[in-house]
Amino acid sequence: MRIAFALAAAAIAVGPAFAAPPHYKVAAHFDPQGEVDADVTITLSEGETEKAFLLSRRFAVEPMALPPGVTVTVGPAEEPMPALNKYVFHFADPATEPVALRFRYAGPINTEHDSGNKPLRPEGYELFLDHMWYPVGADIQTRFTVDATIDGLAPDLVVVAQGDVTRTAGGVHIERDFLDIDLPLVAMRGLERAEAHGVEFYSRDLSAWRSQQYIKHSEAAARYFEAMFGPLPRKVRMAQVWRERSMGYARTAYTVVTEGRAGNPGDSEVGPARHVAHEIAHAWWMLASPLTDDFWLVESAAEYMSMRYVEHAFGPEELAKNIAEKRKATVDVGPVMGHGRPNRLQLYGKGPLLLVELENRIGRPAMDRLMIAMAKEPAHTTAIFLRHLTEIAGADAARDFDAALHA
Ligand SMILES: [Zn+2]
Repeated sequence: MRIAFALAAAAIAVGPAFAAPPHYKVAAHFDPQGEVDADVTITLSEGETEKAFLLSRRFAVEPMALPPGVTVTVGPAEEPMPALNKYVFHFADPATEPVALRFRYAGPINTEHDSGNKPLRPEGYELFLDHMWYPVGADIQTRFTVDATIDGLAPDLVVVAQGDVTRTAGGVHIERDFLDIDLPLVAMRGLERAEAHGVEFYSRDLSAWRSQQYIKHSEAAARYFEAMFGPLPRKVRMAQVWRERSMGYARTAYTVVTEGRAGNPGDSEVGPARHVAHEIAHAWWMLASPLTDDFWLVESAAEYMSMRYVEHAFGPEELAKNIAEKRKATVDVGPVMGHGRPNRLQLYGKGPLLLVELENRIGRPAMDRLMIAMAKEPAHTTAIFLRHLTEIAGADAARDFDAALHA
């Protein structure tokens, strides 16, 4: 009896020591001719029986030396991007000690499945999750710390990445001790750097009107959101890069936006303000799975907060215009939930409108309490949102909002 109790106590004491998040150790060489050669070790410390990773099929992968008790099955996968291999690791003896999985592979940096953004362009590199250039947790929700050394970068490339970024003679060292689902980086020629409250901004031309607007409204939006949610956990590194397809994305303390037209003082500030406010809002809204219905809690919530910023910065008429545009664009888009990841119009149009309607119903003070309570949650699901809504505004409001998400 006593022995059993002692063992149980020991297990409890040892447990937390192993409960570290996954860690990626990355050594990669980028050849300017367009090849990458990579050695990635993923250390898993949480006891699991199975864990799956995705890696693009454009890479040739060396046979893996697996730790004792670990087996792997490999097969093709076409979701969430085409032309992937899925590695499913099985652990015979989970939760005893950390296990290291080592991937060694080489192949082209560029891929035809690049979401409209070539990873290697004449001005340098832009890499993120969509390029599937490192083993990505198959749930697209696996958050990890990282220690990455990348060499083969020309000295004139300016590197923007998360965490501690140290330029070396031939490359960069990235040490990130906070969690994210991605290992994103920009390494481009001619980027200039500016700092403001909440944002560290990189652009080829800081004097361009659009760059100035991005900086001004990143700062003002950060202050507006901080008044609600508390301090930004980390300054956001924001890179404005030239590309053919206009798009933006946000990771923890990191955002990439499109350079676009330089613009001039006669242009409306509302567009650039809305865009960066949306990206800054992701500092609080990025914790729902991108593969599920719940993804509205990332994009619709960030868009709703950006609409709130537009109203704050430009007045109710600008918000009314934005609401009218969204209504027009979403007449026949179908339900936000009930069919897996919502589409673009459901995420950026209908979802935010439902949040505006909810605010109209329950009032702004209750809406703010709801959003603040939700932003504090470590993971975002619709069930958690509805639970807070029930507590704050009652079961009827929650039931009707749930119905609206499915209507
Ligand atoms: Zn977004």
